Amino acid sequence: MHRIGVIGSGYVGLVTGTCLAELGNDVVCADTDAKRIEGLMRGELPLHEPGLAELVHANQASGRLSFTPDVGDAVRGRNIIFIAVGTPARDDGHLDVSHVRDAAIDVAKYVDGPTIVVNKSTVPVQTADLVHSLIAQAKTSAHETTVVSNPEFLREGSAVVDFMHPDRIVIGVSHEGAEAALRELYAPLRAPLLVTDPRTAEMIKLVSNAFLATKISFINEIANICAAVGADVRDVAAGAGADKRIGAACMQPGLGFGGSCLPKDTLALHRIAEQADVGAPLLEAALSVNAAQVRRTVARLIALVGGLRGRTIAVLGLAFKAGTDDTRESPAIAFVRSLVADGAIVVAHDPAAEERAGRELGTTVRFVAHPYDAAEGADALVIATAWNEYTELDLAELRRHMRGDVLLDARNLYDPLKAAAAGFRYAGIGRSSPLSAALASP
Ligand code: NAD
Repeated sequence: MHRIGVIGSGYVGLVTGTCLAELGNDVVCADTDAKRIEGLMRGELPLHEPGLAELVHANQASGRLSFTPDVGDAVRGRNIIFIAVGTPARDDGHLDVSHVRDAAIDVAKYVDGPTIVVNKSTVPVQTADLVHSLIAQAKTSAHETTVVSNPEFLREGSAVVDFMHPDRIVIGVSHEGAEAALRELYAPLRAPLLVTDPRTAEMIKLVSNAFLATKISFINEIANICAAVGADVRDVAAGAGADKRIGAACMQPGLGFGGSCLPKDTLALHRIAEQADVGAPLLEAALSVNAAQVRRTVARLIALVGGLRGRTIAVLGLAFKAGTDDTRESPAIAFVRSLVADGAIVVAHDPAAEERAGRELGTTVRFVAHPYDAAEGADALVIATAWNEYTELDLAELRRHMRGDVLLDARNLYDPLKAAAAGFRYAGIGRSSPLSAALASP
């Protein structure tokens, strides 16, 4: 049993702390957002993540998991401290490590015994060195602190399962004792463990996200070609993805990648390459294909409805992907913003992200409680996020609620023939219907 402190109780920190408590450790999670902590103390979760609430409540009840607004409580008397604070993109595209710096200074201020500081935030290469020197400079006690890089690979929407059953655990460490402690901590997960130096571990995280982003942009580009030549990208992706060297994951075309990780981490790696005077045209292309994907899809909608001014568009899904309430960098939000800018009236639905989307979109969009309410009087219906509840909608019923007949299925959830049978003019992404082919190159 380890005494663990977690600094930052967001998607990563809260899942990490909770799962480590579930594994039998004594965990204190801290956050500078006092409201978030007050809610957690009452058992209210600040985010939507399947299975997490149950684990938080069970571990709070057992006394293994607690929350504090005082970061010092997550440092004093703890032998392993995780840093899981946000690292958003700066204006220049590099990752902003100011919260990581603040956390390091707090560790230095309150550390009162030999401690392993584990960085879980996604950071630029050499941040472990930075954290180490910040702590060494600011620390008043003589106790040894070792800094380890242990990037997190969980996906929002399946974060608990991903944490408990990881494909691999990467530990960037150059201290035998710290390596042994982390091996012991993660042993119950029985996952393949890759031990590297800290800089390599930091690079592995950025490279993983940049590769996934590139794969998504690749299939989006292929989708556009498929639509133009009359092929169906879903079958193309299945056929190509069946090759183990390629793999079927991240081969679903759509509105492009979003969220709080892939866009910023890919851009950050590109900036790192620039700074090192190394060209990275592939990363640049992945980003520019992604930026074009929302514009391209809006153009398709315009071609289908014949102009957006004064048109009512129902949008299903605002989260950046299914299973989460996270709307950071959501392509669905960018899509809606573009519709509004073009004069459309947008009525939107999302099963979990309404509150966060509302904060971003304000009063420009009307939210409704059910997908069928969104369809009421709409000229077109757009599926923007692949939520499970959007896969089994009664298309004929939706169509009856609508004024127009356009279904733009930006997640390819429906069979074009069934949609046509329900009275829709259907357009997917990269599919072979004559309509898709005609509209492929706006
Ligand atoms: P988040 O914004 O959900 O949570 C970060 C939390 O840290 C916030 O609650 C914030 O109030 C708190 N915080 C900021 N500074 C603090 C400080 N000095 N002391 C205490 N708390 C502080 O962010 P997230 O999505 O959990 O991401 C955290 C890190 O993990 C980022 O680097 C991200 O890139 C990385 N990551 C995220 C995911 C993901 O799916 N969200 C997956 C893997 C890695």
